[in-house]
Amino acid sequence: MFYRADFILQGHDWIEDGALEVQDDQILQVGPAEDLIDPSDAPDVTDLGHVALVPGQVNAHSHAFQRAIRGRTEYVSIDRQADDFWSWREAMYEAVLSLDADAFESACRRAFEEMALTGYTTVGEFHYVHHRPDGTPYDDPNELAYRAIDAARDVGLRISLLRVAYNRAGYDKSPNPRQRRFIESDVDTYLQRFDALTRSIEERRFVSVGMAPHSIRAVPQEWLEAISAHGHGQDVPMHIHACEQPGEVAESMDEYGKPPLEALESMGLLDDRVTIIHGTHLSEGELGILADRQPTICACPTTERNLGDGFLPATELMDRGVPICLGSDSHANIDPFEEMRLVEYHERLQKRRRNVLASYAEPRAVATDPGGSDRLSTAEVCWEMGTRHGARALGLPGGELLPGRLADFTALDLDHISLRGADAESLLPSIVFSMTPGAVRDVFVGGEAIVRDGGLTSS
Ligand SMILES: [Zn+2]
Repeated sequence: MFYRADFILQGHDWIEDGALEVQDDQILQVGPAEDLIDPSDAPDVTDLGHVALVPGQVNAHSHAFQRAIRGRTEYVSIDRQADDFWSWREAMYEAVLSLDADAFESACRRAFEEMALTGYTTVGEFHYVHHRPDGTPYDDPNELAYRAIDAARDVGLRISLLRVAYNRAGYDKSPNPRQRRFIESDVDTYLQRFDALTRSIEERRFVSVGMAPHSIRAVPQEWLEAISAHGHGQDVPMHIHACEQPGEVAESMDEYGKPPLEALESMGLLDDRVTIIHGTHLSEGELGILADRQPTICACPTTERNLGDGFLPATELMDRGVPICLGSDSHANIDPFEEMRLVEYHERLQKRRRNVLASYAEPRAVATDPGGSDRLSTAEVCWEMGTRHGARALGLPGGELLPGRLADFTALDLDHISLRGADAESLLPSIVFSMTPGAVRDVFVGGEAIVRDGGLTSS
C-alpha cells in the first residue's frame, strides 16, 4: 500500500510530492512519488493530497483515567486556600475510588480518543489502578490493565502497558487506605502478574508491555532490585517517577541519605532501558549520573505547569546528551505539539531569551538564502522529543519515517488556518510552535486509519 502526500517529513527535511510504501506494520520505503509509484500501482495508492505527512507522536507517559478529573480540580475551598501537587493528589485518589471497571475503561477511552484526534499514535500507559474499589483483586488481577489496553485498541492507538509496582505510602509512613487499589503485598506477586500480562498480550498486534516501579517513595529497595533484574532478563523498558517534587527528594534523603537518582544509581538500576518520569528537581550529582547512564527523561510540561511542579532543567540535560521525551501525564491538556513547544517556551521565560534550545540543533543551509549563514532550528530539537525519543523510551522502532520503522503517521492539513501560508522552510516550525489540533486530519497506526478527515474511525 502506498500513501502519497504533498509533503513528507524525512528526518528534518520535506520530500515534496512524496510517497510512503507500507507493508503490514512497517514502512518499506519513502521517497519522491515519481520514483516510488508507477501507474500499475494505482489501485494501491491512497492520495492524501495537500497535507504534511509526519511521524505519529509518541505519548511516553499517561495515566489515562485521570482524564476523568479534568476541570474538576481548578478551584480552592474558602476553608483551605492552599493548593498544590499533594492536595491535587487527594482529589485524584477520590476519583480513583469512584471508578468501577466500566467507568475506568470509559475514562481511559476518552483520553485515548483525544490523543488520536490530536496526532498521537502511541501511548505508554503507566497503569497503577489494579484492584476493585474495596482493594481486593479482580478475578483476573490484570483486569484493569486489559481494560486500558482494550480502550486504546478500540480507538486504534498502539499501547505499551507499563504495569506499575506499588507497595507502600512512603518511607516510614503508615498505609494510606486511599491507595488500596494500587498496592500489592510482595514483589513476587507483582512479578507473577506482570508475567501473566506479558504472556496474554503476546499475540496482540500493537500491544507491548513494560515494568514501572511507581517511585522511590512507593517501592522499597528490594522491590526495585528484583524488578530491575526481572526486566533485564526480558529486555523490557522500565519507567519510574523521580524528582517531580521537593517533598519526594526529601523523603529519599531520609531513607537513603541521597536524592532519588543517586539512590537508584547506588542500586545499579540506571541504564538506557530506563525512563525517568519528570526529572524536575535534579542535583548536580544526579545530572552527572544521567550523563553517564543515559536513561531517557520524560518531561510532562502541560501537567507540570498544571500541578506547579517546577521547570524541567532542559539545557542542563541537553548539555549532558540526555534524551528528553514527552508525556501528557494527567491530561489537563492533550496536545502533543503543546508539550513540545513548552519545553522551549519554559526555557525562554526563565532565561529571558529566544531560541534557547536551538544550540543543540545541527547547522543547516537555508535553501532560500544560499549565500547566508547556516541556521540552527529550535523546532528540530523539539521534534525529536515528541517522536524518536518517545519511541526509544518505550523500546519501539518508531518516531521517524524510514524503511523498517513502524508505519505510524499523521497527515496535517495544510489548508488549516493555523498552517496556511507555511512553505517548506517554515513548515516544521509552524507545526511545532503554532499549529492547533484542528489541523490533524488523518492518523494511521500500522498503516491503518484511526482518524480520517478529523474524525475517529472507531466511532
Ligand atoms: Zn505520572
